[in-house]
Amino acid sequence: MLQRPLGFASDAFLASDLHQEISKLGEEKAVRRFHRDGAAFSNSNLEERALRVDGLEERLVNAVASESWDKVCSLIREAAAALAAPRQKAALNEAAAPMPEDAQERLRANLQGRLRKLIFQGLGYLDLSDVGTASQLEPALSVMKLLIERFKVRGQLEEARAAKQWLRLHGLLTADAATQAEANVESCRSEGNNYVTGADRGSSNSGVYSPNVKLKSNPLVRNTEQHVILKCNKCGLELRSSWVFEHRGKVGTLVPANGHRACGGKYVHIDSKIQVTLDIGSNLDICPHGRQTKMCAKCGGRGTCAHMKQIHTCPPCLAERRKARSDANRERRRKDLRYARRCAKLR
Ligand SMILES: [Zn+2]
Ligand SMILES: [Zn+2]
Ligand SMILES: [Zn+2]
Repeated sequence: MLQRPLGFASDAFLASDLHQEISKLGEEKAVRRFHRDGAAFSNSNLEERALRVDGLEERLVNAVASESWDKVCSLIREAAAALAAPRQKAALNEAAAPMPEDAQERLRANLQGRLRKLIFQGLGYLDLSDVGTASQLEPALSVMKLLIERFKVRGQLEEARAAKQWLRLHGLLTADAATQAEANVESCRSEGNNYVTGADRGSSNSGVYSPNVKLKSNPLVRNTEQHVILKCNKCGLELRSSWVFEHRGKVGTLVPANGHRACGGKYVHIDSKIQVTLDIGSNLDICPHGRQTKMCAKCGGRGTCAHMKQIHTCPPCLAERRKARSDANRERRRKDLRYARRCAKLR
């Protein structure tokens, strides 16, 4: 049996009660697989773990290059299963405690950092406001939220080790914050310092939806005065929306992208013929060329590159990213091997 330093105690990251909570989430098969991946990772030694993370990184690069978004989802699930809970930064006066700063501990922390990075890189390619995508990422999304929430019970996320990464992950996971931040940035850009606040914000008061002022002024958004009744897919709460977004002959009933905040469900319509459109400002911002402004190269959208293409479909840009990543991977692998060899000597 290996002598494990203190740091490893927290690697039993999924306590049994957390297991139970996960079991309630999402599809049974996906949950079982998630457990299996998590167990496989925590039962392997550091060298094996390093190899696994290498593999995940390589597969992510390939999945993105071939635009296999399903694969990106499954890689994020696999990485999240191996993720350890955030840990408190060591306090300065803890010098008396045994220092975990040995080679093994550094390697362990380094692998966790790479897993977190891989997860938010992957998430960056996906649209989490899309219900289908979000459900494909379960139970990973819920588990990561849970890990963060649990840490926040005890303290600020800013006080966690690798706080920047955790904060970034937290930002991506809480669409709420992300969407609002995006809306704020956009309204800043277009109208000076005009934040969408107070009565100007969208609302779902007394069961009736109303978009924010910015959306109301979108020429493709209008009030039909005819209410469509939507239901929360978790608790069944009703929401009426008479607002639609119409583009290229398609009409979608507008619903809040945040869904039903109280229970975390999404608003859906029972009749699949009625299309539901999430009220994400940047998605509904259509430029004179008939595209989403953010994806229009002629308009210099932020999803486009100097080659006048969308970055995720631009071969030179993808090749450049791939090269940068494989160089970094090679360097990391070299470092990890050095650490692993030193660990082997320490045993
Ligand atoms: Zn609900
Ligand atoms: Zn354009
Ligand atoms: Zn390009």
